Amino acid sequence: MKVIVAQGSGFCFGVRRALEIVEKVLVEERGPFYTLGPLIHNLQVVERLSQKELKIIDNLKGIKEGTLIIRSHGLPRAAIELARKKGLRIIDATCPYVKRAQESARELEAGGYQLVIVGDRGHPEVKSMASEKSIILQGPSQVEKIEFYPKMGVVAQTTQSLENFKGIVKNLRKKTEELKVCATICSAVSRQQRATRKLAKEANLVLIIGGKNSANTKRLFQISKGFTETHHIERASEIDPSWLRNKKMVGISAGASTPKWLIDEVAREVRGYDN
Ligand code: SF4
Repeated sequence: MKVIVAQGSGFCFGVRRALEIVEKVLVEERGPFYTLGPLIHNLQVVERLSQKELKIIDNLKGIKEGTLIIRSHGLPRAAIELARKKGLRIIDATCPYVKRAQESARELEAGGYQLVIVGDRGHPEVKSMASEKSIILQGPSQVEKIEFYPKMGVVAQTTQSLENFKGIVKNLRKKTEELKVCATICSAVSRQQRATRKLAKEANLVLIIGGKNSANTKRLFQISKGFTETHHIERASEIDPSWLRNKKMVGISAGASTPKWLIDEVAREVRGYDN
């Protein structure tokens, strides 16, 4: 059986950077340390960090001192403002590409454009970009429902697929006189999606590794299953041996917050399978 790991699988620049920032802070400074929600969308990595005193909290209620680390997906402005008011130390591990998307969103609103965000409504990154007036769309068919605005500006959650974004942009042109398009999709994500699509066209089975709560991992799964049998797993222990039976080529791809040791673990398990 041939086992191929898609090029570029695993940690992207933004996740690696956030982890480096956090590891350094945890070693060099005094706690307590908090993140509002998980630092990255990978349970195994987050569990390791919590053993090193990084606590995940849902809100700032009852937090009177310490350091708040802003996760790679960013935080809504109101949460950062509240942390400042409480006198917490703030360390910003927001990915620079997410920051750029947040800034584009703010500039559009400040410039009088009706802001449209292409993304998943509940995703922390979308929440960090949105204001009360923003319109959030997940797919081209949803454009139908929105009103006409003279000026519109559109940004994307960084992990969106380019096809979906283009489809929405095309439909938005019918709903405005002026459309400003900010291309905020992350190139690392687009590259990984292309590599996964290519692999899925060739392999008899693809295993996508990454957090079940990771948007970019879920998107890789969707892309791959359009071409071949695909399973989304977090650990090698989830592999069902029946998936591997009679497979000549197995592809492996992983989301941007999946560590290399998890990818290696899965590759080892698959290679060890005696067909
Ligand atoms: S996927 Fe892209 S935007 Fe998201 S954290 Fe990684 S580098 Fe940043």
